Amino acid sequence: MNYQVDQKGYYGRFGGAYIPEILHQCVGDLQQNYLKILESESFRKEYRDLLRDYAGRPSPLYLSRRLSEKYGCRIYLKREDLNHTGAHKINNTIGQILVAQRMGKTRIIAETGAGQHGVATATVCALMNLPCVVYMGKTDVERQQPNVKKMQMLGAEVIPVVSGNMTLKDATNEAIRDWCYHPADTFYIIGSTVGPHPYPDMVARLQSVISEEIKGQLQEKEGRDYPDYLIACVGGGSNAAGTVYHYLDDERVKIVLGEAGGEGILSGKSAATIQLGREGIIHGARTLVMQDADGQIEEPYSISAGLDYPGIGPMHAHLATVRRAQVLTVNDDEALEAAFELTRLEGIIPALESAHALGILPKMSFRPEDIVVLTVSGRGDKDMGSYIEALEVISVNKTV
Ligand SMILES: *Cc1c(COP(=O)(O)O)cnc(C)c1O
Repeated sequence: MNYQVDQKGYYGRFGGAYIPEILHQCVGDLQQNYLKILESESFRKEYRDLLRDYAGRPSPLYLSRRLSEKYGCRIYLKREDLNHTGAHKINNTIGQILVAQRMGKTRIIAETGAGQHGVATATVCALMNLPCVVYMGKTDVERQQPNVKKMQMLGAEVIPVVSGNMTLKDATNEAIRDWCYHPADTFYIIGSTVGPHPYPDMVARLQSVISEEIKGQLQEKEGRDYPDYLIACVGGGSNAAGTVYHYLDDERVKIVLGEAGGEGILSGKSAATIQLGREGIIHGARTLVMQDADGQIEEPYSISAGLDYPGIGPMHAHLATVRRAQVLTVNDDEALEAAFELTRLEGIIPALESAHALGILPKMSFRPEDIVVLTVSGRGDKDMGSYIEALEVISVNKTV
């Protein structure tokens, strides 16, 4: 079984590049050149140096003693929360801006939902002195003010998008529209393993440093370079892709992914795309899409802004379909509980997205000798509003 992208940009029947005519040349150029660039000595050196000295890699692989005790196995946390800008996203934006420079592009655009990818993109644009425009749904602009202010402080122009539901899907549409107007000078830095080929593969490769490090770190700590389980959350799929990349062909390693159930998959308020989606095309790729009977894209919902996307990376649609990955749904309340548990047991406040990976643990049964590696994709600072609200609900319930 081949889990990697094929020549035409497909993972099984998912993927491809479904783009308007006007983008054929610039996407074609990227398809022709991205592997050459990623594999070149100059790229590799600059990328490695920045990951180490700027982003703070390698991120630690931490054996969580109390969490391991609770779940009866050996649980290692891959600490992407310790990266510069607070999540795994910086691995990808550093890589893509280096690709953009090598393609001769002089202007950067990006889409963002919660603002994490927008901040990571604005950060590398400041670093490289390139102009940056970030499209963000107006609803998200209003509820994610600290990230909007950060992007502006970093010198990016944040454009509020007022079409549709004014969230991530609409911001992505607007970014693609901008790209169509400026295909010659503009590079679109996509934030996850989504979009037309070669983006899913390029982003997966740029995040694959996560599993590359896990291999070396496990070898050192356990005397073998593979775990029994890899666990990660999936929004578009980039931290999960990075976590599993170098283990895809190693069938000894079980892959378990957590997607956002929202208020429950039957509630009508969910973002569980793999459970609920049907095949369709979104933002340039054939994949699973949450859509109604007429093929209209349905608005996803999750307490975690980084997971409420109505599509899913084509790689993950394929891994789930051929059952290389087991995909579990973690609802809002289960994620909140998991976030509080990690905080109390290990003194680590995770991002709400990462809490959807942690929420998998109570749904599994492990053997004591099992080695589990779980990626903590980001830190929880940005989610304190939701955590404070949850704490207030808990204390009100206690008083009653
Ligand atoms: C954006 C984000 C995610 C979801 O994106 P993926 O591409 O699925 O990884 C998960 N965790 C954090 C902390 C994020 O910022």
